[in-house]
Amino acid sequence: MGLVNLRTVLVKAREQGYAVGAFNFVNMEMLQGILDAAVEAHAPVIIQTTEGAIEYAGIGYLAALARTAAENAGIDVVLHLDHGKHLETVMHAIRHGYTSVMMDASDRPFEENLSITKQVVHIAHMVNVSVEAELGRLKGIEDTLRVGDAQASLVDPAQAQAFVRETGVDAFAPAIGTSHGAFKFKGIPRLDMERLERVALLTGIPLVLHGASSVPADVVSKANAYGAAIKGTAGVPDDIMKQAIKKGICKVNTDTDLRLSFTAGIREELTKHPEAFDLRNILGPARQAVKAMVLNRIEVFGSAGKSSAS
Ligand SMILES: [Zn+2]
Repeated sequence: MGLVNLRTVLVKAREQGYAVGAFNFVNMEMLQGILDAAVEAHAPVIIQTTEGAIEYAGIGYLAALARTAAENAGIDVVLHLDHGKHLETVMHAIRHGYTSVMMDASDRPFEENLSITKQVVHIAHMVNVSVEAELGRLKGIEDTLRVGDAQASLVDPAQAQAFVRETGVDAFAPAIGTSHGAFKFKGIPRLDMERLERVALLTGIPLVLHGASSVPADVVSKANAYGAAIKGTAGVPDDIMKQAIKKGICKVNTDTDLRLSFTAGIREELTKHPEAFDLRNILGPARQAVKAMVLNRIEVFGSAGKSSAS
C-alpha cells in the first residue's frame, strides 16, 4: 500500500463525523511511534513535516522514511507538508512524493493568498496531490516563527467561503482561537464554535484544526519530575476537541503532544539510568511514549478502525 492523499481519508471522516490525526515527525523514532499506534488501532493517519523539519533532517530522508512506513502498514497513510510557506518548498515536496501539501500564505493579504493557493491547487491536482490552506492566523510558535497577539486574527466565514470556492482546496484550516505550542490559553480554554459552525456550513469541505495538542498535565509533570522546567502549559481539552469534531473538524494537527511525550521519555531514561549511553535504550522507550500518546489521540478523534486499506 503506497501513500494516499487527504481526500482519500478526509471525505469519509467528514461523512461519518470523526477526525484523522495529523502527526508531525522529525526523525525515525517519532515516525515509528506514530505508525505503530495507527496500525494497532487500524486508524487512517496523516504524517506531516514542517519546512523546519525538512531543514533539520533533509527532505530525502523524511520522504524515504514515510514511504517505508506506509509500504507494509496496511492502513491509509498520507504524507503531508505542514505550513508550506514558499511555492518552491511545496513543489519540492510534491517532487519528493508528498501526497498532500499545505500552501500557507495566511500571513499575506487575502488576494495574494488566494492567487498563490489557486496556482498550487492547479498544479497539485494534476498529479493527484491534495492541498490545504489557511485563513486567519494562530498565535504561538508556528514551526520556528513566533506569531504575537498583534499578528493573530480569527477567520472571517464569508471570506472563507469565497476562498474555498475560488481556490478549490481539499481541506481548509480556519483560525478559531487555538494557538501553536504548549501555552494555548490563559484562563479557561475557549474555541469560537459558532465561527467554526459557520465556516463548516459555508465551505462544505473538511476542516483542519491547527494548534490542537491536548498538552496533558501528567506528561508535563513527568517531564518536570525528570528535570524539565516547563510551566504554565495549557492545551485543548478532550471534550472541546470532541465538540469541534462534531462541528466539522476532520484533521487534527498534533505536534506538541508528541514532542512532550518523546522528551519526557528521554529524560526519564537518562535520569533513571545515568550510566546509559546506548541510544537504543534511550530512544526506544521514548518511541513507546509517542505510541501511547498517539493511541490516546486516535481514541479522542474517533478514527480507530476507520482505515479503508487493509
Ligand atoms: Zn499549524
